[in-house]
Amino acid sequence: MSKITRRSKAKSKTAKALRGKKTRKKAVTKRSSTRGVKKPRPWTQAEVREAFERFRKANPEPKGELEHLNPFTLLVAVVLSAQATDAGVNRATRELFAVADTPQKMLDLGEEKLRDTIKTVGLYRTKAKNVIALSEKLIREFGGEVPRTREEIESLPGAGRKTANVVLNMAFGERTMAVDTHVFRVGNRTGLAPGKTPLEVELGLERVIPAEFVLHAHHWLILHGRYTCLARKPRCEVCLINDLCRWPEKTV
Ligand code: SF4
Repeated sequence: MSKITRRSKAKSKTAKALRGKKTRKKAVTKRSSTRGVKKPRPWTQAEVREAFERFRKANPEPKGELEHLNPFTLLVAVVLSAQATDAGVNRATRELFAVADTPQKMLDLGEEKLRDTIKTVGLYRTKAKNVIALSEKLIREFGGEVPRTREEIESLPGAGRKTANVVLNMAFGERTMAVDTHVFRVGNRTGLAPGKTPLEVELGLERVIPAEFVLHAHHWLILHGRYTCLARKPRCEVCLINDLCRWPEKTV
């Protein structure tokens, strides 16, 4: 009997020791994995200025690639561009804007024909509904004009913060920072404005970019993400800011 007790005591001691070892091992692994992920050094003001001076020198007047004729067609194009490429939207809107470049003409065209014209664009059914509803609201509440405040634009069907930022920036020259998938990636990869959400990146960019560059910053960053800092294979070797970029996986 005493033998059994001694043995089970020994067993429980061993189990305890093993558990202790495992816990210590876990803690060590956790510590070393946290230690392994180094937080990138934040950019200095001089570095941010240098980056945007290079962007400006390479492309002094950057332009967005969504085709439009006036603030209303820009608004419609941005609403259509959610989860779609600018090129795909442009293919559909060339035909659409030739016949419907005002809210009233959009209503005259009607939802069915609109749906038919934009059917190559993803989520076209919902988007057609939204474009008709926002045209109605523009006529009913804003005299047929695109409003100039963020709150009013965001109140339109299908329009969110990004839509408001693009319209305010491109149609009305406001210093807003729209964060799409490209800007989100570039802000995070470069370490310029790391953030878990588009809003965090937007506010981070607004904080670090000198005022004189803010008007065009949105386009410089979009174009940089679209043509150089590609999602899968960034072209670091031809990147204008490769010496400044903090991404540990950059290839130069
Ligand atoms: S160095 Fe590479 S990862 Fe960094 S911004 Fe340029 S393309 Fe993107």
